[in-house]
Amino acid sequence: MKRVLILTAHPDDAEIAMGGTILKLVDKGCIIKNIIVSIPNNVDIRKIETKMSSEFMGIDYEFFDTNFPCGVEQISKYELVSKLDGYIAVFNPDAIFTHWNKDSHQDHRILSESVISCFRKHKFDLYYFEQTNQSNFIKSNEFTPNVYVDITDYLENKVKAFSMHQSQLKGYMAHYLQDLIKLAEWRGYQMNAKYAETFQLVNKKEII
Ligand SMILES: [Zn+2]
Repeated sequence: MKRVLILTAHPDDAEIAMGGTILKLVDKGCIIKNIIVSIPNNVDIRKIETKMSSEFMGIDYEFFDTNFPCGVEQISKYELVSKLDGYIAVFNPDAIFTHWNKDSHQDHRILSESVISCFRKHKFDLYYFEQTNQSNFIKSNEFTPNVYVDITDYLENKVKAFSMHQSQLKGYMAHYLQDLIKLAEWRGYQMNAKYAETFQLVNKKEII
């Protein structure tokens, strides 16, 4: 049974980027845990939203052992890498999914770079997930996937899971829900499926 560790900067990142793939992997019998490094605001509400969504998707989760509220950039690089080492050593994943290293969000980039440092002690398949464009920075659209996952049967529940993060669907963030559906449609179109999520596989544990 494959063990999959997801390393995310914020409570809703996993649902946005790979909610359909999570649900598909759970159906296949994978054991999945999401480590969430930071809660920048609305700490109590976002903890409840995360619990609801994680239970709905059928995955385990854990918040980083640090003082909230905080962003990833407020945690020292040393602390970040050593704690990631600890989580990886305990969970012993076959595969890790995390943010794209060129993501436009600074918290996402910092975490992605820190995960690379963990290769000095551990071996694992590493996948970057695609960001839903959160800015006007057009280069964010240059994510080049080499793995496509058909999530047609899972989009409805992906939307349900993300919708449990109600605090993130207000104000300037209200467009996120429509954005993730549009992105799934476009990626699906590229592989002749209705909806898809994509990834960059950047390291294989066993190459021969
Ligand atoms: Zn985020």
